[in-house]
Amino acid sequence: MQSFSYVALPAKVTFGFGTLSQLGAEIAALGCRRALLLSTPQQADSAEALKTMLGDLAAGVFCGATMHTPVDVTDDAMRVASGLQADCLVALGGGSTIGLGKAIALRTDLPQIAIPTTYAGSEATPILGETQNGVKTTQRTLKVLPEVILYDVDLTLTLPPAMTVTSAMNAMAHAAEGLYAREANPVITMIAEDGLRALAQALPAIVADPADRNARSDALYGAWACGTTLGSVGMSLHHKLCHVLGGAFNLPHAETHTVVLPHAMAYNAAAAPEAMERIARAIGASDAPGGLFDLARSLKAPASLASLGMPADGIDRAVDLVLSAPYWNPEPLEAGRLRRLLENAYAGVRPENAP
Ligand code: NAD
Repeated sequence: MQSFSYVALPAKVTFGFGTLSQLGAEIAALGCRRALLLSTPQQADSAEALKTMLGDLAAGVFCGATMHTPVDVTDDAMRVASGLQADCLVALGGGSTIGLGKAIALRTDLPQIAIPTTYAGSEATPILGETQNGVKTTQRTLKVLPEVILYDVDLTLTLPPAMTVTSAMNAMAHAAEGLYAREANPVITMIAEDGLRALAQALPAIVADPADRNARSDALYGAWACGTTLGSVGMSLHHKLCHVLGGAFNLPHAETHTVVLPHAMAYNAAAAPEAMERIARAIGASDAPGGLFDLARSLKAPASLASLGMPADGIDRAVDLVLSAPYWNPEPLEAGRLRRLLENAYAGVRPENAP
C-alpha cells in the first residue's frame, strides 16, 4: 500500500425508486420553505409537476438551463431567484440543470438539492464549468457541491437509449481517469471500478429494454460512483481533450466523451497498467481501450469525431490547444502522438495501444 490522502465530500445521498416523494421532507430538513425549481426547457413539464407536488414549498420554476452553463442564463436565473426570495435550489435534470444550480449557489450560497435524470455525475462533484463570450472556465469549490442528492431511478426511465449510452460513457470517463489519477487512493479506486462494472453491465440491458428498472437502477448507481470519482481526484488527458474539442468546435459533450475515451485510454495504457487491468476486469474485456471501444460499438454509440461535426483541419488546432496549457498526465504529452490519437478518433477506428 502506498501513502495516500482522501477527503470525503459532505453530501447526503438518497437512492431508490420513487424517492421524489421525499423531496418536501428534504427541503424542510434543510430548514427551507421557498424552493426555486430548475430545469431545461425540455423538462419544463416535469418541473411544473414538481411545483404542483410541493405546493407551498415551491416558490417558482426557472426552466432555462442549457449546456455549458452560460453566465447570461445564470444572471437571468439569479434575478428570478431573488424576485421569488428563494431560500434553496432544486435542480431536476442532467448536468446542464445541475450546473445552473451550482452557478447560482456559487453566487448566493443557497443550499441545493440535485435530482439527476442522466448519468453525467455532476451532482457528486464540487466542480463548476461556466461559459462566457465563448470561453469555458472550470473551478473546484465546495460552495457548488449540492447538499443533497436525491436519486430516483423512475426518473431515468425516459432517458432515450442513445442519450443513455453517451451519458453513461461520460460517467465511465470519470472513473477511467480516476483510476490513473495522480491523487488516486484506495477508496476512490474501489468506487471507480465498481461504477465501471455497474454501467458496463447495465447498458446492454437498457438498450435492449429502456424500461428495465433493475438495469436502470444499476446504471444510476454506477453514475453516482463515477461522479464521486470525478469529485474526488483530478482528471487527465481525456477530460482535457474533450474540453478543448467541445470549446473549439462546439461538439456535443457526452458524445465527444464517448468517442475520445478509448483513444485517450490507449494513449495512457502503457503508463497505467494497473488502472487498465481494473478497467478491463470491470467491463469484462481482455484489453481496456479496445474493450471499451467494442462496448460502445455494440451499443450503437457514435464512433468518430467526424460524425459529431468536427472539421478535419481542426486536428492540428486541437493538438496546439491541448499542449498550450501543460498539466499532469500519466504519459507525457507529445504532439505527434496526440495528432495520431485525434486522427484515430476523427476516423472512428479501433484505438492503438502503442506509445
Ligand atoms: P443535459 O443535462 O444537457 O441533458 C441533455 C438533454 O436531455 C436535455 O434536454 C435534458 O432536458 C434532457 N434530459 C435529461 N434527463 C432526461 C430524462 N430522464 N428523460 C428525457 N430527457 C432528459 O446533458 P448531460 O450530459 O447530463 O450534461 C451535460 C452538461 O453537464 C455539460 O455542460 C457538462 O459540462 C456538464 N457536466 C458537468 C460535470 C461537473 O462535475 N461539473 C460533470 C459532468 C457533466
